[in-house]
Amino acid sequence: MSALGSGATCGAHAGVVAVDLCPRCGRFLCGECVELVGEQAFCASCASVVTARPSRPARWSVGFSLVGLVGMGLGLFTQGRAGLLVWALAMPTGVLGFALALQALRGAPSPATVRRAKWGRALATLHLLAVFALLVSFAAFLVTRRG
Ligand SMILES: [Zn+2]
Ligand SMILES: [Zn+2]
Repeated sequence: MSALGSGATCGAHAGVVAVDLCPRCGRFLCGECVELVGEQAFCASCASVVTARPSRPARWSVGFSLVGLVGMGLGLFTQGRAGLLVWALAMPTGVLGFALALQALRGAPSPATVRRAKWGRALATLHLLAVFALLVSFAAFLVTRRG
């Protein structure tokens, strides 16, 4: 705990000398208000946000994005119509993963949610970029064959 000095008082308890400062919201904390997360002191509401698990959209985002990415890869290595089917099914899964990541990042999500949603978004972006690159190369292939 850091010495604050200069007679700062707790934000929640009037007249009680503050012993620490919440690094997240900047509120002054007395000994009673301090919630330790590891070595770091937070106020109660910030401590619950900091320790919160990733939100459901963030967790599902990673799942869908991963399934989409793997599905696209499987589709590429599967011969014929089955491969096309897997590829086509993987695409909306990737889009869904991307949408869920955006939903999870809206508002003021907890750090764990942000971390997880960014993974989901990165995986989905990789997938959709690969799909885009494949479509472009396929179009280029068609054009060169015709010309
Ligand atoms: Zn706080
Ligand atoms: Zn207090």
